[in-house]
Amino acid sequence: MKKTKIVCTIGPSSLQVETLRQMVRAGMNCARINTAYGDYERYRTVVENVREVADIPVMIDLKGPEIRLRTEKETEVNEGNVLEIGFNKEPISFNHNFIDQINIGDLIFIDNGRIRTEVTKKGEKTLGLLVKSAGVIANGNGANIPNKRLMVSTLSQRDLTIIEFAKENEVEILALSFTRSAKDITNLRQASEGFTGTVVAKIENFEGIRNFGEILGASDAIMVARGDLGVEIEPERVPLVQKSLIRRCNQQGKPVVTATEMLESMMHQPNPTRAEVSDVANAILDGTDATMLSGETAVGKYPVESTAMMARIAMETEKATKSIIEDRGFVNISDTVSRSIQSICQDMPLDKVVTITRSGYTARMISRFKIKQQIIAVTPNPMSKKQLELVYGVVPVYYDYRKETDRIYAVANKLHTMELLNLEDTVLFTAAFRTHKKHASNLIEIHQIKEILDTAKKN
Ligand code: PGA
Ligand code: MN
Repeated sequence: MKKTKIVCTIGPSSLQVETLRQMVRAGMNCARINTAYGDYERYRTVVENVREVADIPVMIDLKGPEIRLRTEKETEVNEGNVLEIGFNKEPISFNHNFIDQINIGDLIFIDNGRIRTEVTKKGEKTLGLLVKSAGVIANGNGANIPNKRLMVSTLSQRDLTIIEFAKENEVEILALSFTRSAKDITNLRQASEGFTGTVVAKIENFEGIRNFGEILGASDAIMVARGDLGVEIEPERVPLVQKSLIRRCNQQGKPVVTATEMLESMMHQPNPTRAEVSDVANAILDGTDATMLSGETAVGKYPVESTAMMARIAMETEKATKSIIEDRGFVNISDTVSRSIQSICQDMPLDKVVTITRSGYTARMISRFKIKQQIIAVTPNPMSKKQLELVYGVVPVYYDYRKETDRIYAVANKLHTMELLNLEDTVLFTAAFRTHKKHASNLIEIHQIKEILDTAKKN
């Protein structure tokens, strides 16, 4: 059983039902829509088709404060050209207006840093950029202005309408690009009132790293967005930043997704490079919950093969994952009980762990220890079920046990009929007992499934 979760970006290469079905079979756990590209018709198709093939969450990636270019046609630019870019409806324009904050001499990088430019002219409404490395400018290209704290709003008008779309379609996850501070996340939560899903903060610039502590506190999950991060800060700093962000997410039991260029060469070839394979494996060893495919599955030639390859690397690497959690004293009951569960799982020949959980919190707290047993998280909340799809080692199950008097028996029986538990399995159950407090899973019971089911029959 694969424990690492795989997020696949869905685009023209993968939005057909049959392709999605094969990707789910290959190991996809979450479908991402990158709203830098496509229109509502496409987003709707993706949501409908994903729902047709599997009960997995859809992640809508909002562009937020991300700077992008808008243009009707592609333009080739060469070294020495001066490019005129505006902020409104010019042939090439930026999606946010920040002209007042730009000075002559500032560097602006376009298309993941491929096109390097320097601001040499500043007019009333446009900037002149001297091209230092050639390339082709296309609609939707990202632009990076490293080391600059731009004051642009958290959400654009387009983001706001996409949020409405997300709510109407009961999308489970919203990701915010270029999250700079906790304020960006609270702004998003306010703007998306009524949205009950997960909010993912994408860390992709210096400010996101600097304010990471408060961002982690304000969001439900994190994405290490290495594509832009590698342009905004020096690429050689990305590996250690990745390790540190993942470690801090693990410590708090917040899911973390490692993203971008993981199997980049599979855009065009059926096999990855050795370095890419190592990169995926190392992110898993760092402690990531999920790995992500971007262009590989959205526009690449091999969406199914990329997903299958990622799953193979994950399964092999999971043999060696280890907990990196530090003991920092008492946080809450679930935190403490999850530590005991880790130690029981190490000492005893247990087959599985079952957590009976409303919000999914306890499942996340156990998952972070990277125990070898599968964690089955049973929740009466369909949204929690789908959100747990991002969490390492967790098999989420929707089942409303709330009317049952003997919940452990009811859950054991249900999971047995679903063939998730065998009669021979020795299973650790954990739940919140005689309490309605949050984060208070306070019960541990260990049973052989056959015994629970037999005893119930006798009574
Ligand atoms: P993007 O974000 O694919 O939306 O740019 C991920 C990244 O920058 O790594
Ligand atoms: Mn990005």
